[in-house]
Amino acid sequence: MAIADTLSVSEFFYSLQGEGRTTGVPAIFLRLSGCNLVCGGQAALHDFQKHEPATWVCDTIAVWLKGTSYGFESLLEKLNQETDFINRLRKGAHLVITGGEPLLHQQNIVAFLAFVEDNYQLRPIIEIETNATILPLAGLDARVHYWNTSPKLSNSGMPLPRRIQNEVLAFFNKNEKTMFKFVLNSYEDWLEIESDFIQKQSLDKQKMVLMPAASSIDELLIINKIVADICIKNQVRMCSRLHVEIWNQLTGV
Ligand code: SF4
Repeated sequence: MAIADTLSVSEFFYSLQGEGRTTGVPAIFLRLSGCNLVCGGQAALHDFQKHEPATWVCDTIAVWLKGTSYGFESLLEKLNQETDFINRLRKGAHLVITGGEPLLHQQNIVAFLAFVEDNYQLRPIIEIETNATILPLAGLDARVHYWNTSPKLSNSGMPLPRRIQNEVLAFFNKNEKTMFKFVLNSYEDWLEIESDFIQKQSLDKQKMVLMPAASSIDELLIINKIVADICIKNQVRMCSRLHVEIWNQLTGV
């Protein structure tokens, strides 16, 4: 089997989209392994805790560090058994390809989607969640309906040259399928978004959505109010975190 006929998968499940402009849509999540960033600081790879200057930590590190390489046929068999994959996608559920950073696997994603189309005559509604540091292939862009990008601020603990790629941000800024989702918990974070992304990168404010950095209900209740205030004052769209509201700190739901 050629490498391109496999996907390295950390987990998959059927649920509701919990963030961004498609919040609440029934969706199958396919989480691919690996990431080119470590939000929370590089040391978070080992203890999953945040390290200064990070003010939050990626809540899926423990999941995306693991991965199983599946051939497409065996992956589809498993997906069909456990999520009723093809039937649900035919009925309009979105396929949310997430990570980690799924664009590390973009050739394999294109090949997988072509395999689904060839074998099931199906082109599902695709959302891809990316940290906007890797330029998408044209062949992938042609299949994607929603680019859910999440550029990182200094509050991620990642140095600027790793988290801001001018050419990639310019590509997404021009792409009509893009939403820029920023995770923040203070007014200082908003000032950084204004300076580093609106002024320096000319990102379109209309494509932005601000989301609280919170991994528990208790945190969310406090930070939602801070973010709502920023959004009202600066006329920017806001979203909360549906999964935290419903399931608190559980992942894979
Ligand atoms: S880019 Fe996303 S998946 Fe990667 S470490 Fe940051 S929050 Fe986690």
